[in-house]
Amino acid sequence: MMRISSLSATYPNGFNAVKKADLKLSSGEILALVGESGSGKSTLIYASLGLLPKGSSVSGKVFFDDIEFFALPKEGQRKIRWKKVSLVLQGTMSSFTPVLTIKRQFLEAMEEHLSLTPGEAMAKAVELLEEVGLEGNFLARYPHEMSGGQKQRCAIAMALCCDPDYLLADEPTTALDVITQAEIMNLLKGIAKRRNMGILMVTHDLALASSTADEICVMYQGCTIETERSDIIIKSP
Ligand code: ADP
Ligand code: ADP
Repeated sequence: MMRISSLSATYPNGFNAVKKADLKLSSGEILALVGESGSGKSTLIYASLGLLPKGSSVSGKVFFDDIEFFALPKEGQRKIRWKKVSLVLQGTMSSFTPVLTIKRQFLEAMEEHLSLTPGEAMAKAVELLEEVGLEGNFLARYPHEMSGGQKQRCAIAMALCCDPDYLLADEPTTALDVITQAEIMNLLKGIAKRRNMGILMVTHDLALASSTADEICVMYQGCTIETERSDIIIKSP
């Protein structure tokens, strides 16, 4: 289980964007973190991984199974960040460098974090791309040579490269059409089941959250408000 306990986060300008937030994410489940724009959803996930801008202050605890994240030295935190928990960043472009092929980006991510030979890394990249439904030679492409949905699939594949136990996805379906949105949601559901992975998905789309997630957590003005199961209709807090 990933557990966030009483997490508060303040940006360098003094703005307190997250206030004593609590959250639990179990293996194999999709938890949707919903709330209006500016309620602190993105800040919560980046803060929980020690990824806020320099000069921000964070208090509280984050556990990945029995590992207390902030108690680890920086290098240990970086390892956890790929091997235990991984990220799909907001916006389909932000996960990729525009000037590198998908192959180069995969290899860089894997070389840095796994000790694989180039041949093994390539084989793993192909396997991961197949897992997310990208058959054919996507490795040779540049990010701009893929559709929005394909880029999002590719970002998910890359986040899986170290076989993490948890995945945090920031608005994974923003800027996609409704059919592609549903496809990405189905993909995430399949991954959660198959890999017994806990997926935390940030979204402002309540309908999408209720149709996909096992659990929903609402954020409002920096605070988390636990709700009942997602089949219950949620009113704005
Ligand atoms: P959400 O993901 O729910 O839309 P965010 O976590 O992105 O919300 O933002 C929460 C609040 O923190 C917003 O009011 C936003 O303007 C503010 N914020 C985000 N980034 C910074 C920053 N670098 N410095 C100061 N305030 C920020
Ligand atoms: P480095 O020390 O090489 O810069 P970090 O682990 O500190 O690497 O992360 C740098 C950036 O990479 C972060 O700001 C974040 O946006 C992104 N990042 C970190 N971990 C992950 C991950 N598991 N999945 C995707 N992106 C990540």
